[in-house]
Amino acid sequence: MKQKTVLITGASRGIGQAAALLFAQEGYYLVLNCMHSADELNALSKIIETKFSVKTLCCCGDISDYAFVSHMFGQIEAFCGGIDILINNAGISYIGLLSEMSPEDWNRVISTNLTSVFSCCKCAIPYMVSQKSGKIINVSSDWGIYGASCETAYSAAKGGMNAFTRALAKELAPSNIQVNAAAFGVIDTDMNQNLDESERRQLEDEIPSGYFATPKEAAAFLLQLAKSPAYLTGQVISFDGGWF
Ligand code: NAD
Repeated sequence: MKQKTVLITGASRGIGQAAALLFAQEGYYLVLNCMHSADELNALSKIIETKFSVKTLCCCGDISDYAFVSHMFGQIEAFCGGIDILINNAGISYIGLLSEMSPEDWNRVISTNLTSVFSCCKCAIPYMVSQKSGKIINVSSDWGIYGASCETAYSAAKGGMNAFTRALAKELAPSNIQVNAAAFGVIDTDMNQNLDESERRQLEDEIPSGYFATPKEAAAFLLQLAKSPAYLTGQVISFDGGWF
């Protein structure tokens, strides 16, 4: 049987890195992307190839840029002919009042978190349709459902991602392609490094489970979605320790 290949965007650290390690452990071939951290990504790919004997391809570039994504899929075609699973994980946050946000920052948040999802799906779908199977997993946030003060652009991007997930799932279900989103609460990554000790403790107190999930726990949930039955599609599923 052909080895399955997963593309993980934003894989140099955090949730994406943990997912890369877990999917490698399960025997998947990997295509790994990030924007600035080529050295970290190459080091991760070396560890994975040595430890798990799976093939990896590293594609460094800006996932918000359609020209880069299209070029990356050219490399994927040469590497393994196409992908079976797409994990749209790359993302950035922006914290601040909307009235003080520049149009450039707004565009950056929307293009990195949302337009990237359009671009990767657009390029991945033809392979998936031709093999009549595929899984698309969008890494979203509770903020895309409930909204967060001072994170309006991020909430809008993730909310767009959630609607995109539900709509595309309907479009692709007849082709046996599943589209789902994991709406994370708080995961312990660099994305939350802006919190000081007391803010962190306050937030932990609000979460019924009492702690920030580890990237490994988040990755395990993504793997479960990748292995879930085909009938599960069009869902935005919170993974947040019972927070909302
Ligand atoms: P992180 O900052 O640790 O990692 C983000 C990754 O995305 C990095 O590899 C970075 O290089 C990559 N990236 C950023 N901009 C990129 C671009 N333009 N092109 C290519 N790669 C780019 O963050 P994380 O916490 O691991 O977040 C991963 C995903 O999970 C994001 O989509 C984030 O919105 C989502 N999320 C995180 C949390 C959390 O609490 N950490 C909560 C909900 C949702």
